[in-house]
Amino acid sequence: MKILISEENFIHNINFLKKKYDRDILPVIKANGYGHDLKLIVSLLLKYKINQCVVARLSEALEILNSLSIPKDFKILILESISEENFKYILDYPQILSTANSIGDILKLLENKIPTTQIQIKIDLGFGRNGITTDEIPLLKEIISKENTKFSGIFSHLFSVPYKKGIELINIFENILNTLGKDRFSMIHLQNSLGISNYGTIPFTTHLRPGMFIYGFYEDGAYEKNLKKVFSLKGNVTAIKNIKNIDYLAYTPKEKLKTTSENIGFVKIGYGDGFLKSNEGSFVKIKDKFYKILLITMDNTFIEVDENINIGDEVEIYFDFDVTKKHLKINICEFLPILSSRIPRILGKN
Ligand SMILES: *Cc1c(COP(=O)(O)O)cnc(C)c1O
Repeated sequence: MKILISEENFIHNINFLKKKYDRDILPVIKANGYGHDLKLIVSLLLKYKINQCVVARLSEALEILNSLSIPKDFKILILESISEENFKYILDYPQILSTANSIGDILKLLENKIPTTQIQIKIDLGFGRNGITTDEIPLLKEIISKENTKFSGIFSHLFSVPYKKGIELINIFENILNTLGKDRFSMIHLQNSLGISNYGTIPFTTHLRPGMFIYGFYEDGAYEKNLKKVFSLKGNVTAIKNIKNIDYLAYTPKEKLKTTSENIGFVKIGYGDGFLKSNEGSFVKIKDKFYKILLITMDNTFIEVDENINIGDEVEIYFDFDVTKKHLKINICEFLPILSSRIPRILGKN
C-alpha cells in the first residue's frame, strides 16, 4: 500500500484560498501534516516558495529542521509554549517562531533575549485553553511597550462558536490590536478552516491558518467546494483465496467470520499500519465497485471479493473520507494522522 500525495491538488488548495480570501496562508502541518507526511509537505512548501507553516510542538519543528535543508527565511510557528531549557533551539534556529501563551511565557522569552521577531503572542478569547486573557492586556501592553522592535505576530483561535458570538470575538480582538498597536506585529491571524468558511476575509488580519482546507477536506460545518483532496491510499490485491474448504482465515475460525462470500482478497495493510480494526464491515473500492472488509489483522486486510476481481487489481482504501467517518464514528482528523510511517507517502496523482 502507499499513500499518494497530489502535489497539484495541494498547491491548488493553497493558491485557491490565497486568491479567494486575498490573504497569505499559514499552512498547519502538525500531526505529520494530518497524516500526509510532514517532510513531504514541507518539501512542497519549499518548492512553491510558501515560506511559513505551523506545527503544534517543538519536536515537529526539530524534525523538519534536522532532516531537510531549510532556508533562514522559512518560518515555523510552534503553537505550544517552549520550555526554558529548550530556548537554545529558538536561538539556534532563526526559522523557529515561538508562541507566548501566557504573561509568564513572554516575560521568560524576553528575559532570555529571544528576539521579538521570533515571538508571536496568543490571545485567549475566552476558551481558557491557552493564551493571554483580555484582562491581562494592560499588563501585556506595559511589557511589550519596552521593546522597540516588532513582534513576529499576534493571533487567536475562534473555535466553533455560534456565528454571532464569533463576530463579537473578532471585535474584541480588533480592540486588543488597537490597544497594543497593530503596527507592532508582522503577522495577524485568527482563522482555521472553519473560521475561514464562517467569516471570510477579516480586514485587519494578514494570514489565514488552515489545516484541513489545505489538504482538501473539511468537517463540522466548514465547507469550501473548490478544494481538492490531496490524499489517496492505494495498493493491490496480493492474493485471492477460496475459503470454502478452509477452517481458519488468519487466526479467526471460519464460523466466526460471518461471511457468505467464498472468495477473499488479501491486501497488505493492517492495524499495525494504523488502519483500525474497526474498519471491518466498511468498504474498499476496486474497479469502481465497493467490496466489504471482512477482517483486519496487524499486517493484512481480508476483503470479500467476487469473480470479477483478480490478483493485482488496484484497491483504494478510505476512498471517501465521509463514508469512513460515518463508519468509524470518529473525525477525519483522527483517523488520518494515525496511519503509520510503515505506509510510504509518495507524490502521485490521485
Ligand atoms: C490545528 C489548528 C489549526 C488548523 O485547524 P483546521 O481546523 O484543521 O483548519 C489552526 N489553528 C490552531 C491554533 C490549531 O491548533
